[in-house]
Amino acid sequence: MTEVTNAFEMVQQRIDAVCERINICEVCHLRLKECQRELTVHFPVKMDDGHVKVFTGYRIEHNTTRGPAKGGIRYHPDVTLDDTKAFAALMTLKTAVVNIPYGGAKGAVPCDPMAMSQDELERLTRRYASEIMLVIGPGRDIPAPDVGTNPQIMAWIMDTYSMNVGYSVLGVVTGKPLSIGGTRGRTEATGRGCTIIARLAAKHLGMNLDGATVAVQGFGNVGSVSAMLLVKEGCKIIGIADVKGGIYNSMGIDVEGVIQHCGETGSVVGFKNTEPITNAELLALPCDILVPAALEDEICAANAASVKAKMIVEGANGPTTPEADKILNDNGKFVVPDVLVNAGGVVVSYFESVQDLQSFFWSEDEVNRQLQMVMENAYHEVLEMSLREKVDMRNAAYMLAIRRIEEAMLVRGIFP
Ligand code: NAD
Repeated sequence: MTEVTNAFEMVQQRIDAVCERINICEVCHLRLKECQRELTVHFPVKMDDGHVKVFTGYRIEHNTTRGPAKGGIRYHPDVTLDDTKAFAALMTLKTAVVNIPYGGAKGAVPCDPMAMSQDELERLTRRYASEIMLVIGPGRDIPAPDVGTNPQIMAWIMDTYSMNVGYSVLGVVTGKPLSIGGTRGRTEATGRGCTIIARLAAKHLGMNLDGATVAVQGFGNVGSVSAMLLVKEGCKIIGIADVKGGIYNSMGIDVEGVIQHCGETGSVVGFKNTEPITNAELLALPCDILVPAALEDEICAANAASVKAKMIVEGANGPTTPEADKILNDNGKFVVPDVLVNAGGVVVSYFESVQDLQSFFWSEDEVNRQLQMVMENAYHEVLEMSLREKVDMRNAAYMLAIRRIEEAMLVRGIFP
């Protein structure tokens, strides 16, 4: 069988398998297979050299049965409409796994933010925000940062939205700077969530985190924070890779040093006291834990058999294809899925919305304490489902989520 490579078809395949297995009501199943709203926009942006370029943007709301649509905005040259639909569907599942009152959404603009000036990025963001104002808004659809976007970009979206409605609307996006209603702990939230889940999963496997060896693919927000916090748990980070290449040291890499090096050079490559390795070599490193925290489809049919880590903690969205999943499971690997592992970001985004609504802001300790509680509960619920239904952790997470969404659809009345 040839491997499905379309990201949305992969998610649909997984949704089909779970809905059939647990006998989900047909209308719920069909609704979950498609996206509720798909907005495509084309808009002009004046570039610094004076010429005007027309960009395409998307905002997809996959499902809003359990609450407002929630999901990040990605700026990346390769992102497609179907990727965006897949990420939106993952958000619907993720918010249900951690049981927060949201649906799922995602936005994207195919562009290369690394090749654009700040002024160009600001003009692109403001125009994209104006175009998607048709659907976003507090209580409706609340964007947040993802790959290629950051708190500054959220601030421009908040400002554009606010200028249009005539007053300041803090709750239109999350992941904002603190000065305009952001929350403490949001930048670290996804990596912190990954670390909480890694700790719990290690305990389940009888693995001691103190001294455990870890390889991390992707050294952006999720990868770098996860690496830093795993070191605090006693782990030894032996390999790190980013889009430009990787580094290896069997004795452990100085993560804080790599963060500084990355800030200065734009990559982990060339960091002192390490040997260069490729991304393929990083994924195949003999280690206890592999954290894919880069992009989707990195672990696929072609390389899954080479993975030697005992546990795979999915920091990225969709890093493992369904074919790779089967190979990893057959090889006895414990895969902890994205919809659980990286949910820390959306959980703290939810806390940000709550704080904005109340105009009352929490301490960082409070944010982290609440995050820990939500992540631990979700982990135990997924593990319990996995043991009870004798399925892997991904199927268990999907079962838990889809049951919750079905319950909400039924109680709202899906046959009006
Ligand atoms: P980021 O842009 O900060 O970092 C991405 C990292 O991946 C960079 O180091 C980049 O060099 C590296 N990378 C890109 N392509 C690569 C490749 N082909 N091989 C190896 N490395 C590559 O992005 P991020 O916010 O850290 O997000 C990473 C993943 O986590 C994405 O899948 C994203 O959707 C997911 N995620 C992010 C958050 C969040 O709060 N930022 C929340 C949930 C999920």
